[in-house]
Amino acid sequence: MQDGLWQAVLGEIELSISRASYLTWFKNTRLLRQKDNVLVVGVPNVFIKHQLESKYSQLVVDVLSKNGVNPEKVEYKIHSFTPIPDNEVDDGPLVNLTNQAVRTQTTTGGLTHTYRQGLNERYTFENFVVGSGNELAYAACQAITQLPGDKYNPLYLYGGVGIGKTHLIQAVGNSFKNADPNLGVVYISTEQFVQEFVDALRFKKTSEFSKHYRSADVLIVDDIQFIAGKEKMQEEFFHTFNALYQANKQIIVSSDRTPGEIPTLEDRLRSRFAWGMTIDMQTPDFETRCAIVQTKSLSHGVSLPIDVVEFLSGLVQSNVRELEGVLNQLLAFCEMRELDPSLAVATSLLNSKSQPRHVSPRQVVDRTARHFQISVDEILGPKRDKDIVVPRQVAMYILRSELHLSFPKIARELGRKDHTTAIHSIDKIEKELAFDNIIKSAVTEIKERLYA
Ligand code: ADP
Ligand code: MG
Repeated sequence: MQDGLWQAVLGEIELSISRASYLTWFKNTRLLRQKDNVLVVGVPNVFIKHQLESKYSQLVVDVLSKNGVNPEKVEYKIHSFTPIPDNEVDDGPLVNLTNQAVRTQTTTGGLTHTYRQGLNERYTFENFVVGSGNELAYAACQAITQLPGDKYNPLYLYGGVGIGKTHLIQAVGNSFKNADPNLGVVYISTEQFVQEFVDALRFKKTSEFSKHYRSADVLIVDDIQFIAGKEKMQEEFFHTFNALYQANKQIIVSSDRTPGEIPTLEDRLRSRFAWGMTIDMQTPDFETRCAIVQTKSLSHGVSLPIDVVEFLSGLVQSNVRELEGVLNQLLAFCEMRELDPSLAVATSLLNSKSQPRHVSPRQVVDRTARHFQISVDEILGPKRDKDIVVPRQVAMYILRSELHLSFPKIARELGRKDHTTAIHSIDKIEKELAFDNIIKSAVTEIKERLYA
């Protein structure tokens, strides 16, 4: 219940401050205690504690009060806990979508289920910077707003983490919604989609579930790779797809990989995805990153000197979300100390972060082998014993999650010919991370060493 309260608070806060500020200051907070009129919020470090106390305490009090909670005191306490995975923060129903318009509600034996529209109005075409890597995707999304259900149907967008997929597909939804508020635009993350489906099965409400999604005018499903291995869900989605497609409704999906690279994706879905347009989004190049930094800092009311813009854009190269985080740290630091965001300040604050980009695939393999106390020859060699196979899979996972290499490249780095091995290995480790503490701490430790 407490958690529900805090999620609701976070949902509102996210809509009232910039996304970057939200991610920097609120993302990893939790409600620890609510007792004797004192509410204790756990925060990851002293920097965030300070910022919440000095800058956001009134906002938190106001939003709590809107939710019917009026504690005498709100305390911020440094507390260590596992950070919320990006997906949850990004697309999770509770954080992002709490305030979104409710479309339909069904009650199942006391359990109220709400279908949400899921759009975050902060993601628009206007504040999306077009440049190399995303221009094709942008053009396709624009075209869809002109002629939905036509040439780009379905649109399948894929690309690495934090490069603007969610932003862009939500921009399509928002654009439709602005043009016609009554249009049935539905945005949903695949994780949420699966969860709703599981609930529907459990409460024997699948026909309502089907009806809801099959009556959309525009259906946007984010991170479709998470449908892997979920057979019933794939079947349901297949029928939803057909119903919408036949009615000329627009379907948009995003993924971190091509349909062919999603393990256990049914062939019939795979072939449906190929009916329309598949477009990959690449990491924005240096100029585009500079433009993004400029746009974002201006939206905070700050005009950064060009050398600082270039410094930040060189620092974080593959992930716009991280780039935004770094920018935000700098702005907050300068605001707190009343400093101008000069190159000197930026370098002294952020220089330790320039390490990650120097990590090479070979270093990942070396580090992983060393962690598991096997030799590099063994990890690259043909042996299939468990104590060699697992390190190999972990190395593949890190090459994907940290360096964002393609599957064929990952396979080559580990001396494998077949890239599907990489796909399956990474998929396996991704799953195991959720419950296997040995794997989890191995990955954490290897990453720490890599960047140390
Ligand atoms: P993905 O879904 O690909 O992981 P997101 O769409 O969540 O990435 O983008 C991460 C962050 O970076 C968001 O805050 C988004 O607004 C921002 N972003 C990414 N690309 C751009 C861009 N081209 N212009 C402006 N902001 C961008
Ligand atoms: Mg996303």
